[in-house]
Amino acid sequence: MRDPRYDVLFEPMKIGPVISKNRFYQVPHCNGGGYRDASAAAAMRGIKSEGGWGVIFTEQCEMHHSSEITPFIELRLWDDKDIPMLAKMADKMKEYGALAGIQLAYSGINGPNLYTREVPLAVSAAPIRTFTNDPVQARALDRQDIRDLRRWFVNAAKRSKLAGFDLICLYGAHGFGIFQHFLSRATNQRSDEYGGSLENRSRFVNEVVGDMRDAVGDTMGLTLRVSLDETIGKLGFSNAEVRDFVEMNKNLPDLWDLAHGTWEDCSGPSRFVEEGAQETLVRGIHDLTDRPIVGVGRFTSPDVMVRMVKSGLLDMIGCARPSIADPFLPKKVEDGRIEDIRECIGCNICITGDMTMSISRCTQNPTFMEEWRKGWHPERMNAKGASNNVLVVGAGPAGLEATKALAERGYDVVLAEATEILGGRVARERHLPGLSAWGRVVDYREFHIKKKPNVEVYLDSALDADAILEFGFEHICLATGSAWRRDGVSRQHVVPMPVSKATNVFTPDDIMSGVRPSGHVVIYDDDHYYMGGVLAELLVNGGCQVTFVTPSAYVSDWTVNTLEQHVIHRRLAELGVKIILNRGLTVISDDHVISNCVFTDTIERFECDAVLMVASKIENNGLYLDLKVREAEWAEAGITSVKLIGDANAPGPIAWATYAGHRYARELDEPNLGDALPFRREITELAID
Ligand code: ADP
Ligand code: SF4
Repeated sequence: MRDPRYDVLFEPMKIGPVISKNRFYQVPHCNGGGYRDASAAAAMRGIKSEGGWGVIFTEQCEMHHSSEITPFIELRLWDDKDIPMLAKMADKMKEYGALAGIQLAYSGINGPNLYTREVPLAVSAAPIRTFTNDPVQARALDRQDIRDLRRWFVNAAKRSKLAGFDLICLYGAHGFGIFQHFLSRATNQRSDEYGGSLENRSRFVNEVVGDMRDAVGDTMGLTLRVSLDETIGKLGFSNAEVRDFVEMNKNLPDLWDLAHGTWEDCSGPSRFVEEGAQETLVRGIHDLTDRPIVGVGRFTSPDVMVRMVKSGLLDMIGCARPSIADPFLPKKVEDGRIEDIRECIGCNICITGDMTMSISRCTQNPTFMEEWRKGWHPERMNAKGASNNVLVVGAGPAGLEATKALAERGYDVVLAEATEILGGRVARERHLPGLSAWGRVVDYREFHIKKKPNVEVYLDSALDADAILEFGFEHICLATGSAWRRDGVSRQHVVPMPVSKATNVFTPDDIMSGVRPSGHVVIYDDDHYYMGGVLAELLVNGGCQVTFVTPSAYVSDWTVNTLEQHVIHRRLAELGVKIILNRGLTVISDDHVISNCVFTDTIERFECDAVLMVASKIENNGLYLDLKVREAEWAEAGITSVKLIGDANAPGPIAWATYAGHRYARELDEPNLGDALPFRREITELAID
């Protein structure tokens, strides 16, 4: 069972009047569902309770209607009507003995109030700060407003108690919560008793904690989430000032929840931020307070967690993404199944669900946010259906996930892969700059597949239709992937570009298979995710001069959703990449390209030795089409179904492929739903007029 080395992680922890059964602490994290998909979010938290977490928090919960962050979808506690929804969540969290926490947020300078149309209230009057630069300003809270705000916090605390929560987190981190806005001189320019000295800037949080203690402190633990460093220069709430603040207010909350600077810093992708990256910022804070500390750092290794506790850096191990990738992480440590942990790869696809106001997905855990919608459990598959065997062709993320999940259902699976290694695109992409952690997508699945007696893997086995018809499997799952296009077809060009035959045009596949251009390379990025930026880095490091041309207004445009767009731009600029925005390519010739302005069509010529085309991808669906034209032969070969999944069906991010593989495995032999909606959803209850 449990390795005694990890015993320390299972010690109970006192947080004010309540006790967590262990040190595993799921810090608040968004999920793109929030109030719109409350049952889905509740079930997701319930799975974490089953997975052994000691503390489980909601995402941020807007505690008053005068501060909300539409279009982003989080939780709401605006009046008593929100209590049942939150009570459902608290119930689920507590089902297996976790403490249920709610994070109360008043967004102040971050809440544009696009939905409620209230005038935003902030510590000091200033333009609202959002991802979208909304043309809205906040007015400064006057003394009466501050009294009101204190009362609203107390009301929210009482409602949280009624909903059944054990813990309240006051949100003052990432630049998002009002407590940080009071603490930081960048957002607090007041000249009254709430501004100026650190003591004055700390007044509001002291008042709110005091009020709340009087109201609910006998039964609820109060935690305060602050950023370890605002990272915005000398006006910001710096790490040195955070230390002064903690020292000055030693026992203010029942637990200090220490996040990093901005959300982008705190949830930095593995491409730029390592596990445990906040160590130096946390070191020594423990000596300044008697209260326990929780901190984050994309912790997936129990050894690192133990080191954090034993070295006195942290008392509780805070996890958001690691708890998404593996909601059963604590249970696996407890059961001595360390190698079974589904480690987060730090891709931040989960965050894109929040940023796009859709619903979050996880590259590693395809069941995330499908626990209620589809009834998917991260550790248990549905029972096997009537048939017995499946041939999976292609061992990329889609094929690997399908194989693992089918085997867990009890099917006999043969996995055939054309190359000599497992992993498909991930086997190649993991060697690109900064993407090594993505290899965990392959390692985790390979580990499981190799242990299964009902899986046979054949490498170096490129199959064609003849071979498949000869084998006679009942089901054929084709996960044959995709290839980057050389002809420029993507968004600017919907038909192939005129490319001179002699031109040195490369694709990302060429680069990943070791072919290298030299001299001056123009990268044309009409894909807009990570690939163009990553390859720019690779080519510069390999000695090329790089000009990066994109029709977008931003480098690696979509990575704003993975919280790394600004870092990618900075990295490329620092590497000396010439960045040309809002321009496409119209002509590619032997020694130059012609670029057009997307607004005016003004032409510019760039001399170059090669072009790297990061456009779109084309599905490898030839095998499927070959089988399809021979459908009349299937029955005789014993084949009952042939299905195309993953990139071979429609190329997308890796998370789309693992999801497709998992879905294939779940749905095999299940009744055909016909035209019915294939998932549950929340329906708004119509108000009585
Ligand atoms: P996905 O993201 O959908 O999993 P990938 O491109 O990562 O797709 O992986 C597809 C895998 O399928 C690659 O490893 C490729 O070598 C393999 N493959 C493609 N065609 C065949 C084939 N005819 N027989 C066996 N393997 C194939
Ligand atoms: Fe980790 Fe990526 Fe899953 Fe988010 S989506 S939890 S970053 S593996």
